[in-house]
Amino acid sequence: MIIQPKIRGFICTNSHPVGCAANVQQQIEYVKAQGPYSEGPKNVLVLGCSTGYGLASRIVSAFGYGAKTLGVCFEKEPSERKTATAGFYNTAAFHDKAADAGLYARTLNGDAFSNEIKADVIEAIKQDMGKIDLVIYSLASPRRTDPASGETYKSVLKPIGQAYTTKTYDTDKDLVHDISLEPASEQEIHDTVKVMGGEDWELWIKALAEADLLADNCTTTAYTYIGKELTWPIYGSATIGKAKEDLDRAAMAIQTDYADKHLKAYVSSLKALVTQASSAIPVMPLYISLIYKVMKEEGTHEGCIEQITGLFKEKLLEAAPETDEVNRLRMDGKETNDATQAKIKDLWAQVTQENFHQLSDYAGYHKEFLHLFGFGFDGVDYEADVDPVVTWK
Ligand code: NAD
Repeated sequence: MIIQPKIRGFICTNSHPVGCAANVQQQIEYVKAQGPYSEGPKNVLVLGCSTGYGLASRIVSAFGYGAKTLGVCFEKEPSERKTATAGFYNTAAFHDKAADAGLYARTLNGDAFSNEIKADVIEAIKQDMGKIDLVIYSLASPRRTDPASGETYKSVLKPIGQAYTTKTYDTDKDLVHDISLEPASEQEIHDTVKVMGGEDWELWIKALAEADLLADNCTTTAYTYIGKELTWPIYGSATIGKAKEDLDRAAMAIQTDYADKHLKAYVSSLKALVTQASSAIPVMPLYISLIYKVMKEEGTHEGCIEQITGLFKEKLLEAAPETDEVNRLRMDGKETNDATQAKIKDLWAQVTQENFHQLSDYAGYHKEFLHLFGFGFDGVDYEADVDPVVTWK
């Protein structure tokens, strides 16, 4: 099959196995070049391991710290006629490269919110790993079925309290325009917290603790985005922000509940960048195109792998890392500092349909978007006939 990108709206509906492998390889090379690494985790569970920040966390754990990694993801398998999702190919490539390096890797593909996957993970850990000393919670999902009630909740991206009108960029139509977002109902706020809040993170830690699989001094983190004034109305102060606040609650609860294990639970705040999750959020493609422009000019631009390598080395694995007022680890300072935000706000005020491509780094955004699906890598022959059917052991 010759595989060229098929972009529909904010998503690419296919992916390239060789390009996805190139993406994983680049991240591995970056991680190796940042050595040496201090003593680190031995057994790492990564929930949401196949793309974005979770994939980067798995690569740093394995290729930086030499850890065994067990991953959970929710990806579509390939067939003779249809490519897999990018996360599937990323995982297959990760397994190949881990095997070459003599590193243990196992991945369960299924619904992380379900009791079944939790039971399967516990079995796999008992069989192969021993106690877990690091749990990364990096799920990004539009829906969740509560395993207790069987009810399915959907998350929404809406402001709270009042409608909000702002600029956005429609990547499909190449159009800068205003959008008005109606405020969320109480039910929608509740449902978004159910999906993206801390409840499932707590259930994972509880399941591991009950199976006696949490190592003493185990660390766990979930990821958040805090942002600043430009994104607060649609993110920080909106439905998703409420869900992220619930992660702060969950981190405290987890730390208190498992104090006897000296467990450390943090929410880590990361910078905005192009992932499958962020490209679905209105306003984000415009905001990210502008921050890429400013941060590349400042020499502070970072992707997932740079952020996560920094997080692990400088904060997450430290005995007493610097935290903010709610015990969060902050990796977002290069984006959210006042000087950088002032430049972004200035561009935001000026940006129109006519000047968008001059003022922004949309070219950089789009390149990274294509990379998410394994497209646009030098050295990959996109005219070549490739077999879409790939598996992992
Ligand atoms: P992503 O879409 O790249 O990755 C999501 C992962 O979750 C994938 O591995 C996917 O397979 C997995 N997943 C989704 N639903 C699942 C399910 N039901 N069961 C099992 N696995 C499932 O997302 P991302 O941008 O890397 O986001 C990860 C976390 O980082 C989220 O909490 C997000 O809010 C946070 N974050 C993202 C940004 C950003 O700009 N992208 C910034 C800061 C924080």
